[in-house]
Amino acid sequence: MTYKIRKAAVIGSGVMGSGIAAHLANVGIPSILLDIVPKELSETEKDKGLTLKDPTVRNRLAASAKQKLLKQKPAPLSSKTHLEMIEVGNLEDDLHKLGEVDWIIEVVVENLHVKKIVFEQVDQYRKEGTIVTSNTSGISINAMAEGRSEDFKAHFLGTHFFNPPRYLKLLEVIPTSETKPQVLQFMSEFAECVLGKGVVEAKDTPNFIANRIGTYGLLVTVQEMVKNGYSVGEVDSVTGPVIGRPKSATFRTLDVVGLDTFIHVANNVHEQVESPEKEVFEVPDFMLNMQEKGWIGSKSGQGFFLKQKKNGKSEILELNPETLEYEPRKKLKTASTELSKQAKSVQEKLKALAYADDRAGQLIWSILKPVLLFCAEKTYEIADDIKAIDDAMRWGFGWETGPFETWDAIGLEKSVERMKAEGETIPQWITEMLDSGQNQFYKQAGTTLQYYHHGDYVSAQENEKVVHLHRLKGEERVIKENTGASLINIGDDVALLEFHSPNNAIGPDIIQMIQYAIDEVETNYKGLVIGNQGKNFCVGANLMLIMMEAQDDNFFELDFMVRQFQQTMAKIRYSAKPVIVAPFNMTLGGGTEVSLPAAGLQASFETYMGLVEVGVGLIPGGGGNKELYTRLLEQTPKNAKADLQKMAIQTFETIAMAKVSTSAHEAKENGFLRPQDGISVNADHLIYDAKQQILSMYNRGYRPPQQKKIPVAGEPGYATLVLGAQTLKFGNAISDHDLKIAKKLSYVIAGGKVPEGTFVDEQYLLDLEREAFLSLAGEPLSQQRMQHMLVKGKPLRN
Ligand code: NAD
Repeated sequence: MTYKIRKAAVIGSGVMGSGIAAHLANVGIPSILLDIVPKELSETEKDKGLTLKDPTVRNRLAASAKQKLLKQKPAPLSSKTHLEMIEVGNLEDDLHKLGEVDWIIEVVVENLHVKKIVFEQVDQYRKEGTIVTSNTSGISINAMAEGRSEDFKAHFLGTHFFNPPRYLKLLEVIPTSETKPQVLQFMSEFAECVLGKGVVEAKDTPNFIANRIGTYGLLVTVQEMVKNGYSVGEVDSVTGPVIGRPKSATFRTLDVVGLDTFIHVANNVHEQVESPEKEVFEVPDFMLNMQEKGWIGSKSGQGFFLKQKKNGKSEILELNPETLEYEPRKKLKTASTELSKQAKSVQEKLKALAYADDRAGQLIWSILKPVLLFCAEKTYEIADDIKAIDDAMRWGFGWETGPFETWDAIGLEKSVERMKAEGETIPQWITEMLDSGQNQFYKQAGTTLQYYHHGDYVSAQENEKVVHLHRLKGEERVIKENTGASLINIGDDVALLEFHSPNNAIGPDIIQMIQYAIDEVETNYKGLVIGNQGKNFCVGANLMLIMMEAQDDNFFELDFMVRQFQQTMAKIRYSAKPVIVAPFNMTLGGGTEVSLPAAGLQASFETYMGLVEVGVGLIPGGGGNKELYTRLLEQTPKNAKADLQKMAIQTFETIAMAKVSTSAHEAKENGFLRPQDGISVNADHLIYDAKQQILSMYNRGYRPPQQKKIPVAGEPGYATLVLGAQTLKFGNAISDHDLKIAKKLSYVIAGGKVPEGTFVDEQYLLDLEREAFLSLAGEPLSQQRMQHMLVKGKPLRN
């Protein structure tokens, strides 16, 4: 039997159920969202004269959960238009609809009894072959399947999403002893390729993989803090990015998750495991006290941290676990924290901290040691191999390195020696591994990753769509490199240009490499991908350089730089071979300008794109104004007369308001992406998907676009745009300097003071843009904006 998911049913419309329905809609899968029928009328329903028989009352829970999706932050929907793909219903009147779907996912309260009742009904109404899964965080999947039909059991497994389902990459799949292998394989592939998840197979043990280890790690940290007198703030200052963990570190994470949820998860393990693990999962008294007081974190306004206003300024206080009073936040600053800040990679940071003999080092060692030993002890009980554990912690908890990768980073041999000296018992398989002369969990063989597994190294089974640029670079595939960028042969006669400057900001080194890359690709390759695997695609042009040149009055230099940027973007546009840009995450300013002239884009689902230059007192200088305007022109149906003013206004609004898309779908709505541009739901498949676009364009006989004259909105357009900006100024919505920028931007977008409909050269528009850019760069108020952004990382309104 082959499986296909065309429509799904989500049972339970709470936090997770509604989020899952939203994510299904994001990837184009319609669903029916069901919940229980309310037992009482709400006040508004009474006022409207409704009864418990009215469908609007009976569907109230799912319907209101659906509406809430529009307001939640971070947005569960990648476009508001997706909402209509969610149909709502209830668990009494709509059960027959379960027969219309291919996947039923249960997301009701965490209670075995309730879940079993739901599954009994599902079993009655589902058609044979329908896949049924549970989103439980820790209840036994085998126990839930008890008493169900054979066909149900064969198609039943756990699919554990993490909150929020759109954004958290991990999906744990948990088969039972009776799940059909084809069903497990289908769901794993579906989750990876269609839902964009990082899939890890877990065994049916309490809390599966990530929550078992994550909760253990958090509790060990709390206990260490109490035992050795660290403060909440001190712990957070060294358990976040300093060791490759999220900014929310330990206690901020607990505040965000909610202490109630955390205690529930910890208790679930506590009830099911034996000593000595049981003791670790015992929640300390002070945390129970906090729960009693309702100090459960962000949802109640206070937890381990409390934000309050003092003299008009907001300050963050930390909880003292002994006194349960809030105190000023402290941070740990030691020689090792300073050293780790200078380290380039997370591996070096970990090494710098783990063995340091100061308060930060001691804390890190005393947290890492039990977690590493716990992982080694539990590996084969909760997972198939060490890679599943590392993947789960990276994707589920946002750790940059999983536990075994961390262990490799600090050195297995050295750390085990110290553990032994401190009297720890080392799991037998680790001792055997070291005795056989192996002291690394991971190795690279060619472009394949291998990991240690029962006395041997085995190759990781990865989807061919997952491309690792750093592995390709290790294989001598680099064609040319400089400080800011590399040109890499990614196979099948396709080259990739990777940015790797600080924050991937575009400076002369990247510009030079783009020029070189296009020449090289035009002669020797089928096409060029511009992409990378950093934190963000690119946060803009090198602002520091622009500001320094402007402050030193080096306008000759600055003019040269902008010309080079514009010419290079034109080179991308008119390259004889297709150029596909693969943006992801933050793709701002210059990052967007590099994307716009390409033959096509393959954007990651999470792409936050925008021309945000006005925030630093400038306008786009690399052709971005013209490109955005011409994209809108392109979308005018053939034979229809383009409304030039309307297009000028739309372009102006997008740039003047520095609109940033909140997803790739929204980038299409804003005009940054063309309708035919690709979107990769799984960010790990982005480079592969971009390469496929190149190959398909090449095979269809790619021809670059021809230079064409562009019709502009001219003087009347300019007048309309300026009038709009002046109105905002009169209403005090913008500053004098904003108005100055808006006027220059209007002139560039309208194509200067020419009659409406005049056809102008691209170069003419680029010259207008360059002049406006240079004159703004010379403005002291713009320079202040640039400086503020460089120092504070946010825009200044002046
Ligand atoms: P929630 O409380 O927000 O939602 C639970 C839903 O169950 C509600 O819509 C409620 O109306 C419905 N419900 C209550 N009683 C019911 C009954 N008798 N029959 C059918 N439905 C009933 O909970 P949630 O956080 O969305 O959690 C749902 C499931 O997902 C749980 O199993 C939980 O462990 C799991 N989970 C939660 C998270 C998380 O972070 N919240 C993460 C992963 C997994």
